[in-house]
Amino acid sequence: MNPVRQSALIAIIYALFGLLWITLSDHVVLGLADNRHTITLLQTWKGWFFVVVTALLVFWLAWRALAVQASLVEELRVSEQRWQFALEGADQGVWDWNMQTNAVFFSPRLITMLGYEVEDFAPHLDAWTSRLHPDDLPLAMAQVDRHRLGECAFYQAEYRMQHKDGRWCWIMDRGKIIERSADGTPLRMIGTHTDITERKLMEEQLRQSAMVYTHSQEGVIITNAEFNIIAVNPAFTIITGYSEQEALGHNPRFLSSGRHSRNYYQSMWQTVQQMGFWQGEIWNRRKSGEIYPEWLTISAVRNERDIITTYVGVFTDISRLKQSEDELEHLAHYDPLTQLPNRLLLLSRLEHSVARMVRQNLRGAVLMLDVDHFKLVNDSLGHTVGDELLCLVAQRLERRLRDADTFARLGGDEFVAVLEELHEPEDASVVGWDLVNLLKGGFTLASGQTLYLGGSVGISVFPDDGTEVDQLLRNADSALNQAKAVGRSTCCFYTQSLTEAASDRLVLEADLRHGLEQQEFVLHYQPLIRLRDCAITGFEALVRWQRSDGELVSPARFIPPAEESGLIVPLGEWVLRTACRQMQQWLQQGHGLTTLAVNLSPRQFREPNLAHRVASILSETGLPAACLELEITESAIMEQGLAAQEKMAALKALGVRLAIDDFGTGYSSLAYLKRFPIDKLKIDQSFVRDIQRDLADTEIVVTIIALAHNLRLQVLAEGIETAEQLEFLKRNGCDAGQGFHFSRPVPAPEAERLLPAQQRSSQGS
Ligand code: C2E
Ligand code: MG
Ligand code: MG
Repeated sequence: MNPVRQSALIAIIYALFGLLWITLSDHVVLGLADNRHTITLLQTWKGWFFVVVTALLVFWLAWRALAVQASLVEELRVSEQRWQFALEGADQGVWDWNMQTNAVFFSPRLITMLGYEVEDFAPHLDAWTSRLHPDDLPLAMAQVDRHRLGECAFYQAEYRMQHKDGRWCWIMDRGKIIERSADGTPLRMIGTHTDITERKLMEEQLRQSAMVYTHSQEGVIITNAEFNIIAVNPAFTIITGYSEQEALGHNPRFLSSGRHSRNYYQSMWQTVQQMGFWQGEIWNRRKSGEIYPEWLTISAVRNERDIITTYVGVFTDISRLKQSEDELEHLAHYDPLTQLPNRLLLLSRLEHSVARMVRQNLRGAVLMLDVDHFKLVNDSLGHTVGDELLCLVAQRLERRLRDADTFARLGGDEFVAVLEELHEPEDASVVGWDLVNLLKGGFTLASGQTLYLGGSVGISVFPDDGTEVDQLLRNADSALNQAKAVGRSTCCFYTQSLTEAASDRLVLEADLRHGLEQQEFVLHYQPLIRLRDCAITGFEALVRWQRSDGELVSPARFIPPAEESGLIVPLGEWVLRTACRQMQQWLQQGHGLTTLAVNLSPRQFREPNLAHRVASILSETGLPAACLELEITESAIMEQGLAAQEKMAALKALGVRLAIDDFGTGYSSLAYLKRFPIDKLKIDQSFVRDIQRDLADTEIVVTIIALAHNLRLQVLAEGIETAEQLEFLKRNGCDAGQGFHFSRPVPAPEAERLLPAQQRSSQGS
């Protein structure tokens, strides 16, 4: 029975007892006693009895009430303990808000949660609002209002509150109105604070991971410990072509391409187990059947008990990368025009080939081929035609070779073939001659035009001529130069003497440099004769090298190395300056000369600032430009193509004259005679030498004279040695000549002595 009822029952019983006592006790007393004294005594005892009973009852009731209260207090204490423990266990703070006065009780945990001391936190709503993130405050208050209006059973909000150290903590706030006035006005609300910063961070991380997982370009497969797929991301589907449904529950082996052995996979999984991850390139198969390379990383995920629970595979489709790698590899090793191996690949194949031939005691050969006058094609027909022609050449020559042979393009019009397993070195020359002859056959372009080419081949044999790649190529190159020198469209083997010549040349080059520094060069002058009256009209300056040991070296020996080493440029400048100075001196002495001829080497002619240099030498020496005649060879002009035209125009603009030296010996296009501003042709002495002995040469000389005159050019015959030659040339209208018949090239003082003598003789005639 509950204590209130119990108390009521006791009160009723007591009242009844009292009533009965008051009503009946006097009768009982009167019945028991008959005298006044006894009656009074009994009355007293009766009164005492009632008082004692009442006192006992009051005591009992008071005692009972206290006991009940004590048990209630104990219960309350236990319940409060429990409640506090629950809150602490849940790491929650508590607030208790008097909604009328805005007084708020904040529990210590709520305060310490934000890094404050209890004293820092005034027990007022402001203590809360002032620390709430301004962006979140309206939201939290809106939630309170919703609960206040009964729209939701609980108030709940997540917001940021500022920690004492300045950072923002995420708080989850839950509460409930626990007291309302009679008219429903909320009076009191209690709630809890939970710090959810970590959870928020984790959620953020999870969201980011999910984003990565979903939007990553890399495919992701997650399997359980039994290797059954439990998740794949969208990129997996894009790369493999299999949907998520098709993949789930399967072993990833359904993707394998069959390209790798069982051992490969075994060692892969072994690494995953031992190291925790594996990374590498692997070929897989798409749903379409296409196999493709991927870069795969497999990681094993272990639980806290260190047991593998899942495997995560992340892969990238590297087929594009592979393709561009292959393309790069191709670009690095193949000539883009002809698709033939380039120098780099040639070198590595040659090295390999030499090693193999040496090992097998066999022979191989390097054939270096150069297409003659290819530059001319480029210049006259354009680079597109040049490129087309090179491709045709490459195709035709490559067809002649065996598959095992390497045919490479070194650049420009230079090709190299590497032949293997030759029985005799002479086998190489068979191939070499075939290549030369194949080049001679015409090449028909897409336009229908047929072009005829020629070419030379130089051969070095390995291991006979060397086992070093560079050396073999150098030797083949020497042989090629030899082939060109012998006469084009030929094939030459490398010989030791070629190397010796090359090393002699190196020594010569060093000596030349030294000679230039020591001013060991001198100029000789050969008179230029007007054939009509045999008058000296000028001189050709010809350089000589007067070595310190007394030897006089002819230009035929030192001009080519000077040309190759570039020394010809300073040397040529010295020649020009010295000759101009000398000529100017003669002019000042009153000799009626009109022409100083100076040779320009191809290298000099290539110099970009040539006209500028000539102009400054003319102004430095004071020689009138009209007196200077620069001699250029046909090959120097051809070599420069269209650039020659500009060079010549610039020289002409200075007022100097231009002559073609050794005319007839080069591979010349007659078209240039018309196109270029030339003043004179100098017929090469090889034609003059055989005048009247060789019909062809005679015809050539006559033709050149006629050609020059038709083009309104002056013509001079070089190397006139006999009176007959002179007579013939005069008869055929040649304008001028030079040669031993008149005078050898002689030093300036001697040349000067020729002048008065000449004048006397011409005056005499
Ligand atoms: P080139 O310009 O054709 O010079 C003519 C060459 O023919 C000279 O040879 C000359 O001595 C030679 N010669 C002249 N008349 C006769 C003759 O009747 N019979 C024979 N057999 N030869 C005759 P040289 O001086 O030995 O010069 C050879 C070449 O060297 C020159 O040929 C020229 O190309 C080059 N050269 C000479 N001096 C220079 C120079 O200063 N600069 C440049 N770049 N080249 C030069
Ligand atoms: Mg000359
Ligand atoms: Mg000449």
